[in-house]
Amino acid sequence: MIQPDLIAPCGMNCALCQAFQRPKNKCLGCRDKTPKNAKSCENCFIKNCETIRTSPAHFCYDCPDMPCKKLKHLDTRYRTKYAMSMLDNLNEIKEKGMDSFLKSQTAKYTCPTCGGLICVHKGRCLTCEP
Ligand SMILES: [Zn+2]
Repeated sequence: MIQPDLIAPCGMNCALCQAFQRPKNKCLGCRDKTPKNAKSCENCFIKNCETIRTSPAHFCYDCPDMPCKKLKHLDTRYRTKYAMSMLDNLNEIKEKGMDSFLKSQTAKYTCPTCGGLICVHKGRCLTCEP
């Protein structure tokens, strides 16, 4: 089961991230407090966003500006390159709740061969096809 803490404020599922899945220099997810190996994560505008840091639920849907220009840009990039939408994820969490979201993510991204999680950046299971 995917841990709720692995869902980033933007709706990204860190469990599916290449940086989280790799065996070496593994990232522990956006919500983890230790410094990130990946600069793109450490310098992330959402991670460093004032509204997110001070919001009680820590998700972009709590923000009055959602979707801001930057989140839209991120969403477009992920929809185009990785067939995943931050905004769809956020809406699903908001509408149906975290448990339901995690269940649907597990169903969608579980590798049929090994039962591990498919990497959203590579579009395949890194255990079965490294
Ligand atoms: Zn596999």
